[in-house]
Amino acid sequence: MIKLSNVSKIYKNHMKALNDISVDIQEGEFVYVVGHSGAGKSTFIKLLYREERATQGHVLVDGLDLTKVTNRRVHKYRRTIGVVFQDFKLLPNLTAYENVAYALEVHGEDAQTINTKVKEALELVGLIDKMKQFPDQLSGGEQQRVAIARAIVNKPKLLIADEPTGNLDPVTSQTIMEVLEEVNKRGTTVVMATHDIHLVNESRKRTLTFENGVIINDAQEGGYFYDDEVL
Ligand code: ADP
Repeated sequence: MIKLSNVSKIYKNHMKALNDISVDIQEGEFVYVVGHSGAGKSTFIKLLYREERATQGHVLVDGLDLTKVTNRRVHKYRRTIGVVFQDFKLLPNLTAYENVAYALEVHGEDAQTINTKVKEALELVGLIDKMKQFPDQLSGGEQQRVAIARAIVNKPKLLIADEPTGNLDPVTSQTIMEVLEEVNKRGTTVVMATHDIHLVNESRKRTLTFENGVIINDAQEGGYFYDDEVL
């Protein structure tokens, strides 16, 4: 599903954010990306949705080499994946339903198909009863569930989540994890960057630990971190 071969990323200020990393992620996996601040997690995540382009090496997602695709093709690629951010990025003037429907409308799907897909996605995240509410009428956890519904409405093969629980309390974070696990169970590969030691310890999933731009540990059964370790 994802294959990085000898990937380096050097920003314009000569900062080497990733240094010759190689990693394979199979279809259907759920992978945590952890590490100290500045370790390269966001850069890794950004390469996967082609927000940034690798300086060296190859980034293949579902057979497509993201180091080679043109900017025009990037938009087409992004429609095939889902991305979730720490700050939800919902449109404040649209209801939960409209936020999820928006991307489908832009791409010209018919009203009936949109309605079915949006309701299915909101059902999966458990928010069908709040679909007419605006973001400011929803809790942080509910807003993140709308953002997840929006990310999965087209049934992407890959869902990328960059600190999705970063703004949420531990109990709400757990509910977000349950939603992401359900999405994964239905066949979507999930790659999630996180600082949350408890989430990583509780679910024992494959964990890539980044430090100084390299992957220092790839724990297939999940890493175990102590409270005094800063991720
Ligand atoms: P993390 O997500 O683990 O905190 P990042 O991938 O954001 O790490 O950053 C890795 C390194 O690259 C850091 O030293 C950071 O300062 C640097 N960096 C990140 N983004 C940029 C950028 N757009 N321009 C220059 N340097 C950057």
